Amino acid sequence: MECRNFVRGKITGLNIDKLVSLESENYSDPIFMVRLMVDNRILSFEMGRLIYEVVGNAVVENRHVVVGTGSSQLILAAMYALSDPLNDPNPVSVVSASPYYSSYPEMADFLRSGLFKWAGDARTFDKDGPYIEMVTTPNNPDGFIREPVVNRAKGMPVHDLAYYWPQYTAITSAADHDIMLFTVSKCTGHAGSRIGWAIVKDEAVARKMVKFIEVSSIGVSKEAQNRAATILEIISLSCCTKSDDNKLENFFEFSHALMAERWKKLREAIKNNKLFHLAKFPKLHCNFAKDYTETYPAFAWMKCNESGVDCEKLLKGHKILTRSGKRFGSDEEYVRISMLSRDEEFDLFLLRISAIVHHDN
Ligand code: PMP
Repeated sequence: MECRNFVRGKITGLNIDKLVSLESENYSDPIFMVRLMVDNRILSFEMGRLIYEVVGNAVVENRHVVVGTGSSQLILAAMYALSDPLNDPNPVSVVSASPYYSSYPEMADFLRSGLFKWAGDARTFDKDGPYIEMVTTPNNPDGFIREPVVNRAKGMPVHDLAYYWPQYTAITSAADHDIMLFTVSKCTGHAGSRIGWAIVKDEAVARKMVKFIEVSSIGVSKEAQNRAATILEIISLSCCTKSDDNKLENFFEFSHALMAERWKKLREAIKNNKLFHLAKFPKLHCNFAKDYTETYPAFAWMKCNESGVDCEKLLKGHKILTRSGKRFGSDEEYVRISMLSRDEEFDLFLLRISAIVHHDN
């Protein structure tokens, strides 16, 4: 695409007055308060406009952007912001359809909050009253596209879109939900920078989320925000094919090709081994690639075909470290394998998994 509004280091065409200030009214240091607000705004410009203009994976018009120390902080900020105003004497249930991201239960219950409580698999959830549903799409651990499953009047979905980027899945439309969570950890692999952001429709919810961030960590590292903004800027620029001075390889094309190669190698490695099974994904039209593309999830959700086998244990015996399906509200026959490790590590994994020969083979 052509980035008409893009000038290296600057973004034009933005109306500063329209941005909502997300400073806390109660914060005791007004100078810091302003700085926090400005930082939030800067990142809002960079992330809220540019990358989404280029990739087209989310609606950002008239939305509020809340920056967090990774999207992990924003998951908790969202749980707090949605549950606190209800003044419910009982904790609000937090659910997600199994297999779900293993951190959700841990996060919801870690501090034994009176505001919210993990209530397990969304598919079997049958309690009346308000609830928060974590909708992870594409899903961690299995890579499938998801929608809310409970669908009751008092539901408050939080869409975790950490993997809704073109290297993993087709961008079929611009996501448009009340709360959408993103992170550089999965967009570009810069997990160590600890920057995530939420795109939020409701201003009161956004303000509450900022309040949570202030109380839990005062603010978000300015250095990390600057770094993340620069990374996203460069990545956006790399996608601008018509820009005269653009000599960068398109980041998403590069990483999509890398994921394709890894998935091909993994499927080949287990092809003749009847013990393991990997799901197949449909080809979908990607608005970013302007073509039908394959899905290459960040994790392989692998099933051991022999019932009752603890797949994590089996693989550990072959020096392959994975995470058991049990951690994701599923069975021990499943494991989650990272497809995002470094080349040497991934090659070693392929060697080791290829060496496992099932007695039925
Ligand atoms: N959501 C999902 C679905 C994830 O997989 C992860 C990281 N594993 C996170 C959120 C947290 O990411 P961050 O590094 O931004 O805290």
